[in-house]
Amino acid sequence: MMAESSISSSTDVLKRTFISGCHILHHHRVLDAYGHISVRNPRRHDTFFMPRNLAPGLISSAEDILEYFVDDAAPVDPLSPNGYVERFIHSEIYRRYPEVQSVVHSHAPSVLPYTITDVEMRPCVHMSGFLGQSVQKFDVSQFYAKDDTRDLLIRNKSLGARFAESFSRPDQTLHGPVVLMRGHGFTVIGGSIEESVFRAIYTAENARIQTTAMAIDASDRGREPDNKGLHYLQDSELVDTTEMTRWSVMRPWKLWVREVETTGLYENSA
Ligand SMILES: [Zn+2]
Repeated sequence: MMAESSISSSTDVLKRTFISGCHILHHHRVLDAYGHISVRNPRRHDTFFMPRNLAPGLISSAEDILEYFVDDAAPVDPLSPNGYVERFIHSEIYRRYPEVQSVVHSHAPSVLPYTITDVEMRPCVHMSGFLGQSVQKFDVSQFYAKDDTRDLLIRNKSLGARFAESFSRPDQTLHGPVVLMRGHGFTVIGGSIEESVFRAIYTAENARIQTTAMAIDASDRGREPDNKGLHYLQDSELVDTTEMTRWSVMRPWKLWVREVETTGLYENSA
């Protein structure tokens, strides 16, 4: 059994990493004043940590991190300060997929055009093979109950459950780690804080690359008879590129932590 001191120090490390994740996602414009990251509690899998209702770039101490039950997204401490209304995105994903350890929900502008068009987001480069063949889309309006607030937010357990389902194939296996949300943003899952942050950053990056490539391709069509369209990653390359980003994730992570520690905007006292 782990000594109490080593348990608390591992939780301290997790919280410091978590706050760095908030800052990195803000620094990379994946989160602005909105959006959030969460992490499952490694000591008890029926709760998870998420910031209180504050812009991610301003999260600065362990007191800013709240603990919620996976089952109903209720705060473990009933006297907790207010949290994010969309925490049901996180709770329902943790409830449905025991293997998920961290979730990022983002409104990144580069991704939004793919949420409101029928254009599929496809993996364009070796850093984004984790996207799979194409990225799933979710339209919340298909699931509103009669009295639901229609502001596109995932405000309750029922909408959260329907959203979490959209990560699955019909046989209930995971389809992929990213789902686009119409007129709203995207959500990405990972096996660690570092992995979910990495995937969120490279989902936004992939969207920028795809948009640029489609514009170049469109301007060339008609003028260049040999234009064969866009050359996305091939299906046979998806597993190995995903594995490559898995083993290399700590290289960018260490750089990103250093960046947010030295810019002067962010504080991390955890
Ligand atoms: Zn949102």
